[in-house]
Amino acid sequence: MEPISICDLFPFSVFNITDGFFSFNTKILKLKKRPSRIVTLSVNYHLVKNGNEIWLLDCGIGSVPTESFKRRKKPTAVPVDLLYHQTGIGIKDLSGIIISHMHEDHIGGFYSLMNREHAFKCPVFIHEKEWIFRKERYSKMTDPLKKIMNFLERHVCLISEDRIKFNNFEVQWTGGHTPGHMIVLLHGKKRTFCYPGDLLPTSSHLRPERIAYAWDRQKYRIEKERLINRALEEKWIIGFSHAPYMKFTILDKSEENGYIVCQTKMQETRNENPS
Ligand SMILES: [Zn+2]
Repeated sequence: MEPISICDLFPFSVFNITDGFFSFNTKILKLKKRPSRIVTLSVNYHLVKNGNEIWLLDCGIGSVPTESFKRRKKPTAVPVDLLYHQTGIGIKDLSGIIISHMHEDHIGGFYSLMNREHAFKCPVFIHEKEWIFRKERYSKMTDPLKKIMNFLERHVCLISEDRIKFNNFEVQWTGGHTPGHMIVLLHGKKRTFCYPGDLLPTSSHLRPERIAYAWDRQKYRIEKERLINRALEEKWIIGFSHAPYMKFTILDKSEENGYIVCQTKMQETRNENPS
């Protein structure tokens, strides 16, 4: 396994931010004939720096009070509004936010941002299919999520294409996990960084039979296989959305046809000379 350097991603720097840990009971996935078990996951989102531009890929669960997470979330969150204390980056510095899909652990961070909307100037990119799907279910949402929807209504930029490039980002609609789920690619100097959202939330989801929640299970399987094949072929760096310990990886295939994953040290090497 060859080592990965942040220089390979020049001119981008990518930071993984962990927004708390939670325990997850796999019986929620309703997988037939498989015993349920409890696994520990984290909520991760990513910050991308490209010169003076600062982008977020998802924004964590933040402080949103939710039904499904209130019993599971441990109070270790680093919501988006506290980013400043960790990175010196404030809401007003953000150039844009790309949302992979609209589950509460990916948009909950907006709940605390809403209090300082005057400082929030950046667009939020969401796929049109996702937006329409959520809007249709607005009346069934909890009040905090309704507030987030109302906030997003004022800032959302809808993406209608299946694949689009803008501001050095390549965004691809995959569906599967949710109707409008998207993955994000950043093409660096030698390598591509991929944020697969919940299409590949942890390294253990590399196994074909292991699936995350899927709104459309068949589409999820097809898109996940396509993603893994491209990641292997093009040696992508992957930033996971729910891996508690492995934040970045590249994949390799073992002789037994299993996958080898290699944890990288991207954050520690961010100040290396990229030349
Ligand atoms: Zn998620």
